Amino acid sequence: MTTSSHEKLSSNKNAWGVQCPGCGSFTVRIKEVEENQSCGFGDPTDLQVQVPVYACDACCFCFTDGTAEAIIETERRERIRNLLSPEAIKTIRTKLGLSQTEFAELTGFGTATLKRWESGGRRQNVSADNFLRLLGDDPTLLKKLRHLLRIRKS
Ligand SMILES: [Zn+2]
Repeated sequence: MTTSSHEKLSSNKNAWGVQCPGCGSFTVRIKEVEENQSCGFGDPTDLQVQVPVYACDACCFCFTDGTAEAIIETERRERIRNLLSPEAIKTIRTKLGLSQTEFAELTGFGTATLKRWESGGRRQNVSADNFLRLLGDDPTLLKKLRHLLRIRKS
């Protein structure tokens, strides 16, 4: 039964005067829904935020206003803020003279992941971003990574 969710919705009154764009009714309720949004890099699971969605009692139409879009845009900017661009990651790797496979093996990131970062298909998280920056700033770290790889393989 969906009684509980209906009761939850009924407790919200349309105090904001929002009109349904579908039928013009003011019997509109608000509910928080989980939004899965693509960051524009091809991965729909990149962004998961709670946004307010209006639901019309009269025609069951669901719609958002600028609030939802603003929340999503803020979250999106927050996510990609200060992260290395796909081109920058590729530059770090090529400056080190490594193929994607070699770089992936040394860093432990995995070839598929690295390819997604370099193509922009997915963005790296902050810890990976930090690691990539350290590696780009100090190529001697490569020697240490090679050493670690030898130990792991032995
Ligand atoms: Zn409606």
